[in-house]
Amino acid sequence: MSQRYTITSLGWLLGERQCFSPHQDQRPDPQDISLLVIHYISLPPENFGGHYIDDFFQGKLDISQDPYFEEIKALKVSAHCLINRKGEITQYVSFNDRAWHAGVSQFQDREKCNDFAIGIELEGSNNYPFTEQQYKTLASLTKAIMESYPKITKDRIVGHSDIAPERKIDPGRYFDWQHYFTLLD
Ligand SMILES: [Zn+2]
Repeated sequence: MSQRYTITSLGWLLGERQCFSPHQDQRPDPQDISLLVIHYISLPPENFGGHYIDDFFQGKLDISQDPYFEEIKALKVSAHCLINRKGEITQYVSFNDRAWHAGVSQFQDREKCNDFAIGIELEGSNNYPFTEQQYKTLASLTKAIMESYPKITKDRIVGHSDIAPERKIDPGRYFDWQHYFTLLD
């Protein structure tokens, strides 16, 4: 049996871990949630586990912990959810609100994808395959999101690299789109 997730009318997953990020604001049109963007992140890069992603999305990174943190400490970013290597979800921003994950971006003829997108981060990098638990959680979460936000259809699920090809490579060469879409059926 795969996990079933429930999204409340306020845009939060029921019973999943929450870690509120201040890096968010209101969407220009809350009725227009029509794109799902898949990302990866690891902090420090290539290191898994720990609390640094939570800290980063909260603007609380302790720069004494790793030299790389100095480079990114001024960035104000977030995502709606993170799926860690065990397939566990943390939600940082209500799906109804605008998280800051896409940056300068374009989907078809529209720019500023954060306005109308939901962003999900997988804990990962371009050097390690994602875990099966991550695919299972991602697929179940995607199904719940598509039920609550039906303008997100399969052809409106993209990688960060699809909407910001000059700047971004995530979710990278190890993300198995075919496997993911098979799990969605
Ligand atoms: Zn990204």
